[in-house]
Amino acid sequence: MPNPRVVITGAAGFIGSHLAETLLDRGYAVVGIDNLLTGDLANIAHLAGRDFVFVKHDVTNFIVVDGPVDFVLHWASPASPIDYLELPIQTLKVGALGTHKALGLAKAKGARFVLASTSEVYGDPLVHPQDEGYWGNVNPVGPRGVYDEAKRFAEAMTVAYHRYHGLDAKIVRIFNTFGPRMRVRDGRAVPNFITQALRGEDLTVYGDGSQTRSLCYISDLVDGVIRLMHSDANGPVNIGNPRELTVEALARLVVRLTGSSSRIVHQALPVDDPRVRKPDITRAETILGWRPRVSLEDGLARTIEYFREKLAAR
Ligand code: UDP
Repeated sequence: MPNPRVVITGAAGFIGSHLAETLLDRGYAVVGIDNLLTGDLANIAHLAGRDFVFVKHDVTNFIVVDGPVDFVLHWASPASPIDYLELPIQTLKVGALGTHKALGLAKAKGARFVLASTSEVYGDPLVHPQDEGYWGNVNPVGPRGVYDEAKRFAEAMTVAYHRYHGLDAKIVRIFNTFGPRMRVRDGRAVPNFITQALRGEDLTVYGDGSQTRSLCYISDLVDGVIRLMHSDANGPVNIGNPRELTVEALARLVVRLTGSSSRIVHQALPVDDPRVRKPDITRAETILGWRPRVSLEDGLARTIEYFREKLAAR
């Protein structure tokens, strides 16, 4: 039996590259596709020489992959709020057209499909914590709407392929995930705070910092996705760490863990920034036997190490 073969769209991105690496470690063959809009070849350079093929391609166009495919993991998308502001049309297109093309590839190959969805489908949630039965509170015409609505469309399309074509399709709703290979200029809270603290700059907390997030370390997320790939689940499954903290507390923690003398300053809160966010992971625990294992402090320490080296090399 040849090794199972996985196609990953967005393979040069933060999560995509970790998925590729872990799947290679577990004996899979991986075909990585990316148009390098927000991805970076440096994230996958170390995979050369392994059972890994990289294809530079924009998956909003028809996807051609020769040979058998057992899984399609559709990860391609801008994923930072500052990216949605800069790349609104591309964000909508990859969520809508790209998902259609990736589903088409899975259908043609008889492959299982996993959609990278997001806690953003819950918008600024009126239910707390968020379970998969909650329909969300999304502003379709706000600046984040391009991401939220694209992912909501992507979920609807994925479920339609499952119901209408019988495709074995899964949906993971990813809550704030962090770790090595996030970009220095990513714009999200963890990379911003760490680079600011390491450079001795002020940490920019948006609003009064009382909004909450729940942060999952990358290896836990990857473990959850690989369990989902092999499960019978077809409905959406939250994967995230339920430990919730305020953004102000996160900034203080980063200052402490980096040993920085940086101060915390406050800047304007972005439009439609969710007030609270915390996953209910009962479904993942029950169906996948999954729960996060890496503590926030350990995950941040590893991420700080990555950024220390990255900044020193610049
Ligand atoms: N945030 C912040 N300072 C930053 C970047 C982000 O205070 O430099 C806040 C942001 O307003 C949000 C939270 O941190 O309330 C998480 O933002 P992020 O961009 O990481 O992801 P989101 O959960 O909003 O998609």
